[in-house]
Amino acid sequence: MNIRVSDIKQYFYCPRVVYHTHYTPVSRPTTHPMQIGAIQHEVMSLLERRRTLARYGLDAGSRQFHISLHARSLGLSGVLDLLIETEDEAFPVEFKSTTQRLNLNAKYQLTAYALMVEECLGQSVSQGFIYRIPTQRITAVPISEILRRKTLHAIEQIRSMLSDERMPPPTPQRGKCVECEFRRFCADVL
Ligand code: SF4
Repeated sequence: MNIRVSDIKQYFYCPRVVYHTHYTPVSRPTTHPMQIGAIQHEVMSLLERRRTLARYGLDAGSRQFHISLHARSLGLSGVLDLLIETEDEAFPVEFKSTTQRLNLNAKYQLTAYALMVEECLGQSVSQGFIYRIPTQRITAVPISEILRRKTLHAIEQIRSMLSDERMPPPTPQRGKCVECEFRRFCADVL
């Protein structure tokens, strides 16, 4: 069973969203914020090609945008916004269309990319970056042991939940349910 990196982010938001995404047939129209986010990502990719790597604290390195990764042993796949490679190391970069503080979900998502880069490209990853597009702010995120452990644990939990077709309990933070597109399938939160 293949898991997507977006599943990990959603899992930490509400595990049931991952279940519904895989097993509940709803049409998911592209929303206006999603369209804006996609345009911002494209513009960002074009601008980043012309810039130096100084803002990442690097003197030199190669860049690949929208790199498709599939890590067989992890059963994980996703498209990374940017990968910077130096002689010794690789640095995954995720672009975010938000001005808000970095939440843990984004760090777990970045860690998942780091794990995939290590498996797919054989490069070690000690840190990645999250680039908040509206503020042009780049935050370095060390890929710590604890982030790795929790991300791997989440992958196991997601795989087990999906292979057993087991719907997990609802999020205890019911405020999240108010605008949730899957709300009508979660009778126990109404
Ligand atoms: S309605 Fe609530 S419990 Fe159900 S999937 Fe959405 S956030 Fe999770």
